[in-house]
Amino acid sequence: MLFVPWQYVADWKCRACGLCCKAYSVVVSFQEWLQIVKNYGVETTVSGLGKLYLRKKSDGSCMFLYNLSNMNLCGLQHMKPEACKLWPFKVLANPKYGYANEALYVLGGRRFFVYVDSNCHGIIYGRPTWEFAAHTVREFIEIAMGTRKEQYKSTANIGTPQPIIPFETYNVIRRPQLFY
Ligand code: SF4
Ligand code: SF4
Repeated sequence: MLFVPWQYVADWKCRACGLCCKAYSVVVSFQEWLQIVKNYGVETTVSGLGKLYLRKKSDGSCMFLYNLSNMNLCGLQHMKPEACKLWPFKVLANPKYGYANEALYVLGGRRFFVYVDSNCHGIIYGRPTWEFAAHTVREFIEIAMGTRKEQYKSTANIGTPQPIIPFETYNVIRRPQLFY
């Protein structure tokens, strides 16, 4: 698994390929588990090694994954676990995967280190567009911080209107010019 610093990514958009809902086991918090069990029953989850997970179907995919018009969609969209909301992004307090300058994102005076899982099919590599930096990355950070519940860029919710974010709030330290 390779984690790419966000400043090497031009843009990202979920293509609803379903890979992440098939390849990974989703860990849910106790609060998320309670909500899912209340609405869908305890048989939709499993436990193991002290953690709670969403149950998988016999083909290995998440039991909430369904297909519509060749798109893989989430049946748990309205109470999607945070792990799913954040994928394929990692928002960390430290540069765990290296390239500290390229992973750095400063928001509200706080320093974050943001990486993208290279297994995702929605990544377009290159110099970050303003839209990606100011809206998409910011949204993932806010979800990770717990200050945002609504998703505009971090899901395949096609057609959802986006809030306008003032340019001043987009405050990052650029990666070296060598890469531009
Ligand atoms: S997040 Fe990436 S891997 Fe998952 S469905 Fe979207 S494009 Fe595919
Ligand atoms: S809850 Fe939704 S997004 Fe998460 S793995 Fe299942 S189908 Fe995919």
